[in-house]
Amino acid sequence: MTERTASPEAEALDRADPLAPLRARFRLPLGPDGRTAVYLCGNSLGPMPRDAAARVQEVLELWSTLAVRGHHTGPDPWLHFHEKFAAPLARLVGAAPGEVVAMNTLTVNLHLLLVSFFRPAGARHRVLIERGAFPSDRHAIVSQLRYHGLAPEQALVEVEPRPGEDVLRTEDLVAAIDRAGDTLALVLLPGVQYRTGQVLDVATLTGAARRAGAVVGWDLAHAIGNVPVALHDAGADFAVWCHYKYLCAGPGAVAGAFVHERHARAGALPRFAGWWGHEVATRFAMGPDFVPAPGADGWQLSNPPVLALAPLAASLALFDEAGLPALRAKSLALTAFARARLAARLAGRVDIVTPAAESERGCQLSLRIGGGAAAGRATFERLCAAGVIGDWREPDVIRLAPAPLYNTFAEVERAIEALADALATP
Ligand SMILES: *Cc1c(COP(=O)(O)O)cnc(C)c1O
Repeated sequence: MTERTASPEAEALDRADPLAPLRARFRLPLGPDGRTAVYLCGNSLGPMPRDAAARVQEVLELWSTLAVRGHHTGPDPWLHFHEKFAAPLARLVGAAPGEVVAMNTLTVNLHLLLVSFFRPAGARHRVLIERGAFPSDRHAIVSQLRYHGLAPEQALVEVEPRPGEDVLRTEDLVAAIDRAGDTLALVLLPGVQYRTGQVLDVATLTGAARRAGAVVGWDLAHAIGNVPVALHDAGADFAVWCHYKYLCAGPGAVAGAFVHERHARAGALPRFAGWWGHEVATRFAMGPDFVPAPGADGWQLSNPPVLALAPLAASLALFDEAGLPALRAKSLALTAFARARLAARLAGRVDIVTPAAESERGCQLSLRIGGGAAAGRATFERLCAAGVIGDWREPDVIRLAPAPLYNTFAEVERAIEALADALATP
């Protein structure tokens, strides 16, 4: 690909960007030509904050010098290591710190919370999800249904976009919830749909599910750190998410979970218990009986994997420094710029699957290339060769997700020029 300089418009947008200095706080991968790649794949695995290495090194250092005493002494005793994540995470998902905990991984947390929150009883036993649900979420739900002796063919309600449409309509989801009515035990939906990038209306859908008498859980894997969410005010019962996508906490990072305050009363809900969920004051009395800690902390099982948690401190510091409102404002500007460039350069040849409305889009733009899946796949390969890192989602979507923490307007422009080049290649 020939070297291009950024347009005056992209340069001006980058000069005016108050978040621009944060880019230098990340290490970004290189493309095939040795230049920094255009990294638009933070929806899949966020790049490494430079401070992540230092945070991990600190733990290694304390381990080597203090060993077991590191649990109680040193600057950041491991006994309480996980506690510092609750407040910054709560700010990102619209919760109180006691409603949030960093633990396990996403699918593990989903199962643990389903144990407490999916309590089928008589006629009220069905679960509503969307037909395009992330496979792991669907596997979790189907296996939970079977675990309860229920047949998924009968008990699983799957809502899909209308024929010829790519994204879900809120009114269709609400109508399906209303139709299922008092047969509905649980609604589980994504804050952002992973394939299309559509942002779902958490408040409206939570309200509809609760009016139907159902429990409602959210998978925020693609929402946290991407779009503002207000879990507490919406009244969601529970939520789960991972920290390796927009949160940039590293591959397989420790995940997060939310349990609404109204369920905080210790012991009110059945759960699979472990000693780290025991009330803190008496945990080390080592008694035989489980007394759950109030709030989300009471769902923990094991003492936290401190090394695996360490990078999350580095990325949450960046989120707090920038603030979600400023990140969201830049994100909307980046995708608006991308949409305008796509319209100008590739109208009719690239279809944007992600909704245009600001309230329905986050960082990610899902693109469908005219000419079918094979043409789309070939285009994607050419983008990679040009140093633009996005990803491909079966059957036919290229996902590009400019992230406001580290991407620039010039990079968005470079990606779309690379797409135009790729489509011009016979
Ligand atoms: C990324 C993602 C997952 C991944 O699950 P893990 O347990 O972290 O491997 C699950 N659900 C959704 C919706 C996702 O986007």
